[in-house]
Amino acid sequence: MALTEYRRKRNFRRTKEPAGRRARSTKRALKFVIQKHAASRLHYDFRLEWDGVLKSWAVPKGPSLDPSVRALAVEVEDHPIEYGRFEGTIPQGEYGGGTVLLWDRGQWVPLNDPARGFRDGKIDFELRGEKLQGRWKLVRLREDKGDRHANWLLIKSRDEFARTGLKSNILTARPESVATGRDLAEISSADGRVWRSGRARSTRRPAATSTRNRKKKARRTAP
Ligand code: MN
Repeated sequence: MALTEYRRKRNFRRTKEPAGRRARSTKRALKFVIQKHAASRLHYDFRLEWDGVLKSWAVPKGPSLDPSVRALAVEVEDHPIEYGRFEGTIPQGEYGGGTVLLWDRGQWVPLNDPARGFRDGKIDFELRGEKLQGRWKLVRLREDKGDRHANWLLIKSRDEFARTGLKSNILTARPESVATGRDLAEISSADGRVWRSGRARSTRRPAATSTRNRKKKARRTAP
């Protein structure tokens, strides 16, 4: 079931995003990743590794270090673990077309029982990222009938990593990619070449870049 929706939405002959597969569960540390995604609307994709996939939320305003900020986080389809290494451009016209920047990554540590937390809609956790640290929580709002995507809130818990005022805006303080140091414009103008993590296995075909894609990449999607 997991990844079915992910794959259904994408044409892997056109996008360089990974098709992926469910990973075997392991005892090693759980990864998290946040990808800044300049799609039709700019948002931050917040992803927690769980049960062999990346549980995923789209956070329109991005995370805030201010515990009084309740950032809307819209649950979206599970993504494959290897998606956490993706940085590059999704062709316009394809699902999620636009530029993806690896904004933060690291380890997440559950502070309550995650299986129960995902089910009951309250996940308490610690982030050990390059930009985000300390305690956070995800709280699911009451679901609207007929709405397939559950709304959650991503909230910084009060601890020594919390900030208020201007210092809470980590998005503007640290806009760069944790993988390459690039900003969105540098990634989208990389002339059709899709960057891959050096650790990514090169089992995928090389990116076929058409002139059409290259032209379209130069154009940033308006919100
Ligand atoms: Mn996205």
